Amino acid sequence: MTTLLIILGDQLQHDHPALRQAQPAQTCILMVEAMEESTHVWSSQVRSALFFAAMRHHAQDLRERGWQVDYLALGQHPFKSLGQAWADALLHQRFDEVVCVETGDLRVTHMLEAACQTAGLPLRWLQDDHFMISHQAFAAWAGRSKHLRMEMFYRMMRKRHQVLMDGDEPLGGAWNFDADNRKSFGKSGPQDLPALPRFVPDALTQSALDDVRKHLGDHPGHLEDFNWPVTRAQALLALQSFLTHRLARFGPTQDAMWTGEPFLLHSLLSTSLNLKLLNPREVIDAAVHMYAQGQADLPSVEGFVRQILGWREFMRGVYALDMPGMKTANHLQAELPLPSWFWTGKTGMHCMQQAIDQTLQHGYAHHIQRLMVTGNFAMLAGLLPQAVCDWYLAVYVDAVEWVELPNTAGMALFALGERFTTKPYAASGAYIKRMSNYCQGCRYKPDQKTGPQACPMTTLYWQFLNKHQDALRRNPRAALMMKNFDRLDAQEQEAITAQAAQTLANIEQL
Ligand SMILES: Cc1cc2nc3c(=O)[nH]c(=O)nc-3n(C[C@H](O)[C@H](O)[C@H](O)COP(=O)(O)OP(=O)(O)OC[C@H]3O[C@@H](n4cnc5c(N)ncnc54)[C@H](O)[C@@H]3O)c2cc1C
Ligand code: SF4
Repeated sequence: MTTLLIILGDQLQHDHPALRQAQPAQTCILMVEAMEESTHVWSSQVRSALFFAAMRHHAQDLRERGWQVDYLALGQHPFKSLGQAWADALLHQRFDEVVCVETGDLRVTHMLEAACQTAGLPLRWLQDDHFMISHQAFAAWAGRSKHLRMEMFYRMMRKRHQVLMDGDEPLGGAWNFDADNRKSFGKSGPQDLPALPRFVPDALTQSALDDVRKHLGDHPGHLEDFNWPVTRAQALLALQSFLTHRLARFGPTQDAMWTGEPFLLHSLLSTSLNLKLLNPREVIDAAVHMYAQGQADLPSVEGFVRQILGWREFMRGVYALDMPGMKTANHLQAELPLPSWFWTGKTGMHCMQQAIDQTLQHGYAHHIQRLMVTGNFAMLAGLLPQAVCDWYLAVYVDAVEWVELPNTAGMALFALGERFTTKPYAASGAYIKRMSNYCQGCRYKPDQKTGPQACPMTTLYWQFLNKHQDALRRNPRAALMMKNFDRLDAQEQEAITAQAAQTLANIEQL
């Protein structure tokens, strides 16, 4: 029996499920860098480089462990897509079956199914046990509920995996410490930010960077500051650095932002988790251990654990449940194209410029920048969800569709309605002013709704409430927003509507 084992770019776990059962003599591993994976959305250079560098190291590691690996590097094979490369392998070599771990992108699943069907070969999908809940168990939890709530899911996961639990009760007497975790850095800004580990490119990483420059040099972003872990050893170092230097201070200011500080106290572990260089269980265990040792307090550790055991697993479950409909959902019927400055950062809106610039430089922005700056603007301006989702998938180093799409369409853009958020995450410039110092360096004024210096976030926020007032009035969670809206008199509402129309007409020049 000869097996073709397909390993995708985000399936780089050292204990890959297929390798636990397979024999090197009967298994051929195929790994492909396909141009289409960088072009179906206009993938940033740093994102492609990260995937290729990590894949090349993984292939080398597998070979050293005695596995036979066919590795097709970008520019060294004629195939545009993964599907074409797989079809060619199945045509020219004799295999009895194809094995692959379930993918995080439905498009890729369909491609592999098609290649195997054409070749007339059986395809065996393996469950991805990197994750802490299977698709089946998530579907059973979700049942027929119209609305899914992460908080309920998270509590179930805490109990099921006995994380931060005291019997059936949460440690510390509360399931979350959100109220403690929404602080800004205050006027003096973040103090004593610890240095991040440096991952100097070795020859293999350098080869990936060179190939990206050569073949994808016209793609967004650049590689001068590339500093992402690309091996398990580097990922473990990144984890250790976060635990030792940042976890204890992570919680309180996890929503805060600051000019020129892209990383703050965040873990920067999403790439290592999503490429599967790290297992979520080991990351959670390590954070909980820090609490048990008295080296980090509960609000910080719980805040961090909730992102991984809660949000990360929840998003994957919802993606599997709601695809393919999620991909085209457009609850708010938004339809404007993406302004071109999303790809350059050249905008006078300082908050957007900061978030986009660091995204192009590092492939990274933290959660609140993605949700309450770029995402908030996209929703308030009524940008087409599919264009916005493509942008997020293209520019972030940790972007794989299973996690990017529900976060963008579902959480940031409210494109799935109340499926898993109770109300739109809409905010005016006042929120950004409170949580950052961005407004200080901006040509707009966050508290002005109209006039030449009106903040586009603020104008569009009030117009958003105006435009969607019928739906928002039916939603008790939006009552406070609407109460404030009702304080505006008719004249102010008219002025906002006119200013919003002008803002959108000039969106390219903002
Ligand atoms: C519009 C939008 C798009 C996003 N796209 C992605 C994406 O493509 N890939 C991705 O991994 N995350 C995405 N996120 C979630 C989150 O922004 C990133 O996981 C986080 O910023 C990564 O940085 P970090 O590792 O420093 O995270 P930290 O703030 O240190 O959080 C710790 C870990 O928790 C997990 N996590 C936190 N929030 C979420 C979340 N909402 N969903 C899933 N996992 C979460 C990540 O694995 C992260 O590494 C998106 C969020 C929004 C609002
Ligand atoms: S004033 Fe408005 S556009 Fe400028 S940084 Fe503040 S929120 Fe952003």
